[in-house]
Amino acid sequence: MLAALVLLATLVASCGTLPGSPPDRAEPGDAASRGTPCESNGDDFPGDVLLARCLTEWFWAQRFQENDAQYRPITRFVAYQGTDGPDCGGQAAVPENAFYCPIGHFIAYDAVWLKAMYDQLGDGAVYVVIPHELGHAVQAQLVGNFSFNVQRELQADCYAGAALGGLIQAGVLSAEQGDEEELLINLQAAGDPTDVWWTPDAHGTPEQRQRSFAQGYTEGVVTC
Ligand SMILES: [Zn+2]
Repeated sequence: MLAALVLLATLVASCGTLPGSPPDRAEPGDAASRGTPCESNGDDFPGDVLLARCLTEWFWAQRFQENDAQYRPITRFVAYQGTDGPDCGGQAAVPENAFYCPIGHFIAYDAVWLKAMYDQLGDGAVYVVIPHELGHAVQAQLVGNFSFNVQRELQADCYAGAALGGLIQAGVLSAEQGDEEELLINLQAAGDPTDVWWTPDAHGTPEQRQRSFAQGYTEGVVTC
């Protein structure tokens, strides 16, 4: 918990600079699954991917329930390699991407690409990309009114931050201080950079993305 508080302080103090890293890993068989339906221990890449998805959906199911609504879990969670991903409404999946497809309500990710980021940049990669895409799955269940796609993307970053912050506060994820560049780099790479059904280059600047993520992390879902 101390680590979480340190991370929180780092994020709060980080306007214009690099925020702290997202949860570095969940403790195996410890807090990771306590009180949650998530059994993965986040020990390795496949485990972290499963845990990030499970905990984030668990987080949103609770938030929806608090508002007398029911969160609708994604129908599929598809790992692909390069060009062999599922299409979305006739649009082919592209390499080095992760995306939420509203048609079918599923998420797909290039596992080779995500694993490479995980290996190079740290396991925070998974805890940025997956919650961001699940943020789009949440948006699809809410009434959204965005003038610009960048707003949609920044809200997904905010939702990702809110989910991670909430999970840390709930004690089901532990945060460790890590390389501060990790989060920035991961936010820059956090999925759907080439979605054709959103305007290209409309994800926001790295600074905007950091700010949105940190806002959700520190202030919660309602500020997103
Ligand atoms: Zn996105």
